[in-house]
Amino acid sequence: MKKEMDYLIRNYFCEVCKNNHDIKLSKNLLENRQKFPFSHSFLHGELKNILTTLYIDKDLEIRGVDVQELTDDDLFSKDQVISITDTLMKEVERLRIENLKLNKQLEIFKKKKTVLEKNQNGYVK
Ligand SMILES: [Zn+2]
Repeated sequence: MKKEMDYLIRNYFCEVCKNNHDIKLSKNLLENRQKFPFSHSFLHGELKNILTTLYIDKDLEIRGVDVQELTDDDLFSKDQVISITDTLMKEVERLRIENLKLNKQLEIFKKKKTVLEKNQNGYVK
């Protein structure tokens, strides 16, 4: 039996490198998303100074690309931006997962509440 890959290879044109880049997009990026396209940011390049944001649809197709080269002349130093971006992306992902957990808990709670109400209606006259 053929094992299904847990990622897809996509390709986008990078304005900074003037090149097509291949990128592995993990299928779990799609998990529990409600809004499409969603943005996916990362840094690339030899110096990790190219900030790329891809807009990805529900089929993991790249619908839009936004590329920005970070230079030392920017308001923040390059290192700062890299560190801020990294931290923010981790935080966004952490919040997304936390949000999912909370939503699940809320669902369970709602179900329990409904059962409880049904029981009450059944017993209380
Ligand atoms: Zn590039």
